[in-house]
Amino acid sequence: MRIKLLALALGASMALSSCATHTSPTGRGQMLLFSEAQMNQMGEQSFEQIKKQEKVSTDPKATAYVNCIANAIIKELPTQQQWETVTFDSEQLNAFALPGGHIGVYTGLMKAATNQHQLAAVIGHEIGHVLARHGNEQVSRGQLSSAGLQIANIALQGQTPVEREMAMTALGAGLQLGLMLPFSRAQETESDEIGAELMARAGFNPAEAITLWENMGKLSGGAPPELLSTHPSSSTRIQDLRNLQAKVQPIYESARAAGKRPNCKI
Ligand SMILES: [Zn+2]
Repeated sequence: MRIKLLALALGASMALSSCATHTSPTGRGQMLLFSEAQMNQMGEQSFEQIKKQEKVSTDPKATAYVNCIANAIIKELPTQQQWETVTFDSEQLNAFALPGGHIGVYTGLMKAATNQHQLAAVIGHEIGHVLARHGNEQVSRGQLSSAGLQIANIALQGQTPVEREMAMTALGAGLQLGLMLPFSRAQETESDEIGAELMARAGFNPAEAITLWENMGKLSGGAPPELLSTHPSSSTRIQDLRNLQAKVQPIYESARAAGKRPNCKI
């Protein structure tokens, strides 16, 4: 038992020492413990699971509308890869994007995103989380907590089994909490910034992102974690988005001048 735990602790410290320093698109330092391939695989598996759990929309109009917006944004992405967009028939005020190129949009979101520009703001924001490798950061944080758990187990060797079990349960609860944590405020701000630029490049009006998050704030009662947890109605977020406009409006105008005028309708 002791040997096995020691091996785990060694593995954990090796994972720590092999951690390279990364920088996010906005220059924030990141700790990323997983490879792109590993993250893509995790994204793939999660998406397959969600498709089984949720009801995939059979409404051709809703699906075409969401695809029209998503495709316009995907065309603007720095690296070309295959993306899959799925519309879910659900009242939830929700959307997400996963590593490996997966986008999920819930029809309930249309209550807050009342036109193509606003829905583009959400899709751009979600893709922003993927481009900035926020999933990797979250999972890496969880991995570190579990490394801490293994080391703690060794530190508790002198305790009686029951005491050890109790301590491990408390630590385990902490780990679960860490994994369930929503994106941080810094990650949200970063995604807002990337999303605003992406939507502008695709020819969607980035000023509509402000209205979107205002609508979201009004409707967020009962919203699921990703869109609710990060206090979207906060005046800070709205103010940050207003400050962003000076940067993204010119991008939007040149996109329009270049003939990028998406016309996605439901
Ligand atoms: Zn977000």
